[in-house]
Amino acid sequence: MDERELMERSLREGLPALGLALDGEQISRLLDFGQAVLAQNRVMNLTAVTDPADFARLHLLDSLALLPAAELDGCSLLDVGTGAGFPGVPLKIACPSLRLTLLDSTAKKIRWLAQTLPGLGIEAETVAARAEEFAPQFDVVTSRAVARLNLLCELCQPRVRVGGWFYALKGPEGEQEASEAAEAIRLLGGTLRRIDPLRLPDGQRRTIIAVEQTRPAPAGYPRPWGQMKKRPL
Ligand code: SAH
Repeated sequence: MDERELMERSLREGLPALGLALDGEQISRLLDFGQAVLAQNRVMNLTAVTDPADFARLHLLDSLALLPAAELDGCSLLDVGTGAGFPGVPLKIACPSLRLTLLDSTAKKIRWLAQTLPGLGIEAETVAARAEEFAPQFDVVTSRAVARLNLLCELCQPRVRVGGWFYALKGPEGEQEASEAAEAIRLLGGTLRRIDPLRLPDGQRRTIIAVEQTRPAPAGYPRPWGQMKKRPL
């Protein structure tokens, strides 16, 4: 089997466990995007995962795992520290009504996304900036593998409109991180609504942390990165 077939098999095997039914065109788009990331990864460091079956599980399915936990239809969504486009791009493919903004501080990753996505028929705004310095607000903010939750909350929650949601995609230690970040979440105007444990098809444990922004974040947040790191909330 070639790279695409291996990726497709692993993707199709994992979708039912997430309760997701994607159509043929969506699956084909996910595979096109996956292949584009793997091809570019030979030139630029985008991911340590190069085995196509692992790629489908750890990047495509893991990103899509947010869908059963979130109401995204028609929402504006900011993906903070998107890297090669995870989880934002798979979410947009599965939920086309989403208005997607991809943010990363590494300009060359954002440049690659901006050049590549239109050719794959994927609409997204791309922004090269640090999250601390990007002010607009969104219905939903997502982030995966960017920082520990107590720091991530400060980067993300001020970008969520009141009544909107922040979803952090975490590993097995998500629950621990959530209890460590409880005070930060509250101080930033949020209410921790759910900690959803889930398993990827290969048995890996993941956690989705759902925070509703119930009040506006206080002025002055996020602080500059140096201060955040030195004195985390
Ligand atoms: N979310 C992707 C990439 C994770 S790697 C995935 O799950 O595969 C972390 C990414 O976060 C890197 O691309 C890095 O450039 C970006 N990043 C780290 N701190 C950031 C900040 N303060 N603002 C914006 N992007 C940031």
